[in-house]
Amino acid sequence: MTHVPNIALNDGVEIPQLGFGVFKVAAGETERAVSTALEAGYRHVDTAALYGNEREVGAAIAASGLPREEVFVTTKLWNSDQGDPSGALAASLERLGLDHVDLYLIHWPVPSRDRYVDAWRGLEKIAAEGRARAIGVSNFQPAHLQRLIDETGTVPAINQIELHPGFPQERLRAYHAAHGIVTEAWGPLSQGGDALRDARVRAVGERHGKTPAQVILRWHLQLGNVVIPKSVTPSRIAENLDVFDFELGAEDLAVIDGLATGRRLGPDPDTFAAGG
Ligand code: NAD
Repeated sequence: MTHVPNIALNDGVEIPQLGFGVFKVAAGETERAVSTALEAGYRHVDTAALYGNEREVGAAIAASGLPREEVFVTTKLWNSDQGDPSGALAASLERLGLDHVDLYLIHWPVPSRDRYVDAWRGLEKIAAEGRARAIGVSNFQPAHLQRLIDETGTVPAINQIELHPGFPQERLRAYHAAHGIVTEAWGPLSQGGDALRDARVRAVGERHGKTPAQVILRWHLQLGNVVIPKSVTPSRIAENLDVFDFELGAEDLAVIDGLATGRRLGPDPDTFAAGG
């Protein structure tokens, strides 16, 4: 079975570098998809209160029979719950059927409400109580991260951000590297977009006997990103994990780097306020 390397977070917790994302996986499809992923060898699942499928993620983990400590589970605090992280996590844990998560993230900063520093203090307490082994954020910009660090002294373990060949986030990755924050890429496959059909990416894949999706995931891994590709198709679930037996060279990496457009697929974190 594929061995996925771990990355050490700044609090000593280890996270498998490749996991399984379940955004927009319908609740009725989630248990089967997560079970397929766990059978294929994934040991890391990324969900969120917002996704409406925590109960089904938990059911698949329970049904797998895997020891709890062998599956890394992330969930996220939704924007409308920033005033009560403890209560929101309790509800997530109840749905997941777990007594702790491995990683709890603030889903978006929602700067217009200016509650994220207080929410972060709530996550510090959650970590101290052992209800999350590690705590981090998602969609935070450098200014938001800097405020957390300046006002609380606790550096997030991870920032989960939109990151793919079209939007490689050099500035944020450099900030993370300077502060010991691990970069986790959401939308790593451009949410199924153009990069997967790009002839240049296909040509790189052909040189290595790999698909465009595998080439792009390998690019992420070689940058040091944690990646959480999503698929409900069993063959793609297996394909996306089969990325640890080849290495992209400098020329291959340059091809992927050349796909940057600077355009986001998702919302701008400086203004996004849904549910806030
Ligand atoms: P993704 O980049 O993982 O793309 C998923 C899509 O790519 C699939 O629906 C499918 O169309 C296609 N695909 C997957 N594997 C393929 C393959 N092998 N070949 C061809 N096409 C393939 O996009 P995503 O789901 O948005 O992101 C991954 C995960 O990141 C999510 O499931 C979720 O867990 C997380 N996420 C977090 C946030 C956030 O705000 N924190 C936002 C979006 C997603």
